[in-house]
Amino acid sequence: MHIKKHLQFSALRRIISAQIRSLPDSRQHAKVDYDLHDCCLSVFAMMFFQDPSINRFQLRLQKKLHKNNLQTLFDVKNIPKESQMREVLDTVPSIELESIFTEFFKPIQRGKHLEQFKIFNGGYLVPIDGTQYFTSEKINCPKCLFKNHRNGKISYHHQVLAAAIVCPGIKQVIPLAPEAIQNSDGTTKQDCEINAGKRVLKKIRSNHPRLKVTIAGDSLYSKQPFLDELKANKMSFILVAKPLDHKNLHRWVDETRDIKGTSILKTNDFNGRKHVYEWLNDIPLNDNPKADSVNFFEYSMFKGKKRTFRSSWVTDIPITSQNIKELVKCGRARWKIENETFNTLKNQGYHAAHNYGHGKQNLAYNFFLMTLLAFYMHQIFNLSSRHYQNCRNQFSAQEEFWNNLRYVIRYFIFNNWEKLLDYVAEPTGMPP
Ligand SMILES: [Zn+2]
Repeated sequence: MHIKKHLQFSALRRIISAQIRSLPDSRQHAKVDYDLHDCCLSVFAMMFFQDPSINRFQLRLQKKLHKNNLQTLFDVKNIPKESQMREVLDTVPSIELESIFTEFFKPIQRGKHLEQFKIFNGGYLVPIDGTQYFTSEKINCPKCLFKNHRNGKISYHHQVLAAAIVCPGIKQVIPLAPEAIQNSDGTTKQDCEINAGKRVLKKIRSNHPRLKVTIAGDSLYSKQPFLDELKANKMSFILVAKPLDHKNLHRWVDETRDIKGTSILKTNDFNGRKHVYEWLNDIPLNDNPKADSVNFFEYSMFKGKKRTFRSSWVTDIPITSQNIKELVKCGRARWKIENETFNTLKNQGYHAAHNYGHGKQNLAYNFFLMTLLAFYMHQIFNLSSRHYQNCRNQFSAQEEFWNNLRYVIRYFIFNNWEKLLDYVAEPTGMPP
């Protein structure tokens, strides 16, 4: 029971508060109307409830009842104005918000909730994938990536490389600190996903020195320089290797198949589909004599004679008839980061691509980090909280669940998160 306490709303909220309060507030005292903590936690509350107008409604409660839910749930003493909130968040170094991801991870690990995510090799599968969360032809900041178009126009973007622990068969994901794909002062070459990928490996290793990690990624990453970086950080890998990106590797497989044969496993399922697994250990990644030796596998699914799915990967894990199915499941689970994370963040209520304000320094990325932290906290409740699961189960759609939470906090004050969940799960008809 003691460990569960560390995964409760109040414990996780206190982690965020403590991190923000440890930052030096560099603004001149005379100008400060609202403190750093109140500004940052108001933004977090906005992302947590996915409600851009949360401040306005809580101010109404404050005027009438001299109390509000930002105060009771998030320890916000004075509700800031939205313009001030943005101005202050813009100055917060993103690295300070990123470190909260590692702080959230500790109680999950201690609480044994991580155990169930272990894959067949006794480690954790960590897909990495890039996504764009901001684009504009006008609004920009010094960190924006830019693109010169043929018609003379310039467009500006922000991208991020996300990493998360996933497991085939588990819907929830555990986000790790992401890496911004963005330009920095004084560089002539623009930042790109593959460089962010190398940085994220270092970041994961430094935040989690002893974690056994298998990185999953798309064909962009199955190149020698990235494999070197994986080895340097003591990580295994399962990376897509498309025929067009790896002509020599695929030619090697084709020739071996013709000469001495590859290992093949075929199965049929109850839906009349045929699954074909093919693998070959210890072949060179490319035709460079210095290239690493890798293990190759391919998976195809057939419905009747028609092939409905095909993909191929390389890995450092020796492939056997015992682990080939698991390897394919892990290779395919890479899409979880796209489906369960990016899609959710952009389209399922979180509005990660919404323009809350761009700022001059860190605002765009800090808004994204706050959104991802809110998502992270919801994932933790999904995995560990009876109150949350019980309340969520009253609604068929995620959206309806959140609509109800948003409505009631506009009219009633709740002294803690669990009381709010219980009230929404079993409304009494009376104020709480
Ligand atoms: Zn920008």
